[in-house]
Amino acid sequence: MAGAAVRLPHLVIYTDRLPSGVGGTANDPIVRIRPEYRADAGIHAHEYEHVRQWYQEGVVGMALVALLALVGGTHWSLALAIAPAGMATHSLAYALWARHRLWCEVQAYQVQMRHGLSLDDAVARL
Ligand SMILES: [Zn+2]
Repeated sequence: MAGAAVRLPHLVIYTDRLPSGVGGTANDPIVRIRPEYRADAGIHAHEYEHVRQWYQEGVVGMALVALLALVGGTHWSLALAIAPAGMATHSLAYALWARHRLWCEVQAYQVQMRHGLSLDDAVARL
């Protein structure tokens, strides 16, 4: 998949309505980046990596929710109906589990470094 041009659906909004010191952020499939970084491929790649993590962990989360519901004796139709709750997996784990948050950021900074971010800068931001 390396180098593949296919992008998962997401929305990029350019805004300064971000916490101070933050150049960009990703909330599920919605990326917000400061207008001054509009041409910064690295920050776009970093935030897109978080979008990719959201999809990847969400798919696993949906499967787990449905499986647990089925194992718990829930009718398959209800199991399917509640499965989308699994899409909260990445956001919840990122917010509540520091090691997961660190892992996500390391992945995102690795991607950003392919666009010219130095190791020193990546470590400083981590
Ligand atoms: Zn990040």
